Amino acid sequence: MHRYVARRTTGSRPADVKIDNKRSVLQHVYLQGTSSKPEACQAAGLSRPTASHLIDELIDSGILRKTTLGAPSDTGGKRPQLFEFDDDAGWAIGIDADGQAVRGAAANLRLAGQAVHVQPVDARPDGTSRPERVGEAVADTARALIDAARSAGRPVIGIGVSLPGEGNAAPAGRGAAGRGTDAAGRLAEATSEALGSLGLPVLMAPRIHNAAVAETWFGCGITSQHTSFMVVDTHDGLSTGLVNANGETPVNAAYSMAALGHTTVNLDGPRCRCGNRGCWELYASERAFLQAVKRGAALWHLPSALASDLRAGSPPVVSEVAAHLRKGDEFARTQAETYADRLAIGLVNVVNAFGLGVVVLHGGLRPLGQSFLDLVARHVREVALPPAAAEFGVMFSPLPDNAPLMAAAAVIRDALEGTTLISALAAIQDAR
Ligand SMILES: [Zn+2]
Repeated sequence: MHRYVARRTTGSRPADVKIDNKRSVLQHVYLQGTSSKPEACQAAGLSRPTASHLIDELIDSGILRKTTLGAPSDTGGKRPQLFEFDDDAGWAIGIDADGQAVRGAAANLRLAGQAVHVQPVDARPDGTSRPERVGEAVADTARALIDAARSAGRPVIGIGVSLPGEGNAAPAGRGAAGRGTDAAGRLAEATSEALGSLGLPVLMAPRIHNAAVAETWFGCGITSQHTSFMVVDTHDGLSTGLVNANGETPVNAAYSMAALGHTTVNLDGPRCRCGNRGCWELYASERAFLQAVKRGAALWHLPSALASDLRAGSPPVVSEVAAHLRKGDEFARTQAETYADRLAIGLVNVVNAFGLGVVVLHGGLRPLGQSFLDLVARHVREVALPPAAAEFGVMFSPLPDNAPLMAAAAVIRDALEGTTLISALAAIQDAR
């Protein structure tokens, strides 16, 4: 299992302590929305003069700003000055390099999209290998979005890139050639080289890692009561990421990218790209679902508008299956039920192994609706072991289905709890 563990950088030198303190204050204000000096100094565990000085510096650097006066204290004291985080103080660039075209987006510091750019991956027959072409498209995308930020007068605090794979989903030397870690490693190298000259912090991670970070800081980690959950991306294959946030905030959550899509669920199943047989991914990815629907249509002999369309050559797409499902199409219903069972089979293992109560789905299954989630959840609750089984729930991500934004989320998180706060603050101050 490949682990990414978020760690707060702490140091003993005064400059490090100061940055740590600034970070604590910023995290507090970011997560609260607004705050006052007394509140922030209490939350960050700092003395009043230290906190006051840091807040003034953060206001000067442009990432915090004064807003209204707060309510007077119980003892009738002066109304405290409130200040808030400036969500538009900078932009984060996110790029998804996991597809046929490279897609990018720029977001403000609350992950609201500000600009997009799509760059086709040039299929030149000049012998340049695909990783280099993807790297060039990533760099072109980054440059286009940096230009957009410049035009809008916003500093860029970093570039997040989502790469294919799950860290170690395909062991080197096994499985189909070109799908293993060698290809992923070459792509990471080419991308890093292409972005190196831009002078900005670059964060590269598997797409599922960025999705898990985004979910923790902007999605179900914030909107629900759950501090531990699993993110499952069905979009291309089946990737899984476990999030464990022990505190009340997303700060210091632990992220583990477990390649659970490559656990065998059928001993007699076909060979998977990872080298195993009968992997869960081969049955539970969107692609597997649509292939099963296509095959099923050929064998279906009862009336079904969906099956007839597919036999007539329509390509199988999730939204079409969902539309027929809502109209009561019997073939669509059996396909959705079978697929729900296939997703559930793997989730049962996860619930039993990790005691996880909540699964958040990323990918294109949303059109299948709540009734599909209910089917999955019912199956898991029936088969998994107590006590986690009874509380199990599965939901569609509250975030938009927007892979570049997930990569931008990783940049924002790194500025707030990782290593790039200093450079982010410097960029924001320079732009003022
Ligand atoms: Zn596999």
